[in-house]
Amino acid sequence: MKKVIDEVKKINREYNYFNEIIENPKKEGKGKLDGIYFSVKDCICVKDVESRAGSAILNGYKPVFDATVVKRIKKQGGIIIGKTIQDEFGFGGFSVNVGKGFEKPLNPFDKDRVCGGSSGGAAGIAQKAGFRHVAVAESTGGSIVNPACFCGVIGLCPGYGRVSRYGLIDYANSLDKIGVMAKDMKDIALAMDVISGFDHNESTSLNVKTSTKDKVVNIGLIKESAGKSKISGTTESGFGKGVDKRVGDKVMEGVDKLKKLGYKVSDVSLPFTNKYGLIAYYLIALSEASTNLSRYCGMRYGAEEKLEGSFNDYFTKVRSRHLGEETKRRIMIGTFARMAGFRDAYYIRAMKVRTKIIEEYKKAFKKFDLLLSPTMPIIAPKFSEIEKLTPLENYMMDILTCGPNLAGLPHINIPCGFVNKMPVGLMLIGNHFDENKLIDVGRKLK
Ligand code: GLN
Repeated sequence: MKKVIDEVKKINREYNYFNEIIENPKKEGKGKLDGIYFSVKDCICVKDVESRAGSAILNGYKPVFDATVVKRIKKQGGIIIGKTIQDEFGFGGFSVNVGKGFEKPLNPFDKDRVCGGSSGGAAGIAQKAGFRHVAVAESTGGSIVNPACFCGVIGLCPGYGRVSRYGLIDYANSLDKIGVMAKDMKDIALAMDVISGFDHNESTSLNVKTSTKDKVVNIGLIKESAGKSKISGTTESGFGKGVDKRVGDKVMEGVDKLKKLGYKVSDVSLPFTNKYGLIAYYLIALSEASTNLSRYCGMRYGAEEKLEGSFNDYFTKVRSRHLGEETKRRIMIGTFARMAGFRDAYYIRAMKVRTKIIEEYKKAFKKFDLLLSPTMPIIAPKFSEIEKLTPLENYMMDILTCGPNLAGLPHINIPCGFVNKMPVGLMLIGNHFDENKLIDVGRKLK
């Protein structure tokens, strides 16, 4: 155990993957997860370990309980080694929007590049760990598959309701899912088996078994995607503007492999999701986030300031001092979108769009067992490239991942090769309760 923690510390000194490393982790239970070490994204509560969701406003917050997933992992013999770095409250796709005083994680293949986000530290350690390891992470709009793709590991985001979120520090409740990343599909399957299922503490958790019998025959290739991107440059991949041609070509090699394995792959079009998914996602996610974050005011948890002036002065002081720039931007956009007078035009409209998107996927799943696209349109960008992006261009990078997240569908990143020595991933999307199909096909592809 000491050897593992020493290795984690060494990796962390070089790459910044942890906000907190547990010095002397204990093995509490015994079972299916014996011998596997688990890192936990900072936004998931671990008893007595500082859990800050990457935000300075939660400095000093040590939960008095374990999140359900953590409890289940411990019970089955898994050992928790620490809390991984993330964008503040999950607000980002590159782990550069870390909270005040936090470090940015560096890509395991090239330290000038990002890990992806918001679960950047989770993906980084999943790649770098020389011991058996599973990273527990969270996705609202792509935060599991995105960093898994940029760091070259498997990342499975289950369908909405599959895994209990009791003990998760929420970003947007109608979108948040807890899932896993690892290099080995066997460990992904094992961990999913343990963390999935109904939890009486979580009213949206489901008690449905994942389907195991139906065979995957037809896979739909989502051809359209992405608007123009400053970073990708080339745009002739056949996947639509914005997907780097080299990334598109690698994904097509994966498609060829699937065909050789006997799967029928044909094109599918999701025009509505492609056009409106991103806009709807950001309106809904930010509206929910802005209400969720109102609880951080220096009274209940985390950071405090000297109490003087009115309560409003106090709250303003605490929030101004401890929240990061992107977080403040999102609170303002979200508050605006659901304000009386604007609510019908933005929030309610976005919810209607979401229903349409769900219907579009439903139609696609009448014909196909799984859907496929690149996970991210580009390889992991350099820190210097991201600095040049506007917030909107930043959000655009989620164009491929926000669809399945809005529809609550399970999706997985499978590494499918390298471009410029950086990993490329393809994303498989399954219908509700079809996590096992993703695992099954993914296993054959790897
Ligand atoms: N990049 C997306 C966002 O910023 C997704 C983040 C997430 O899934 N937590 O909202």
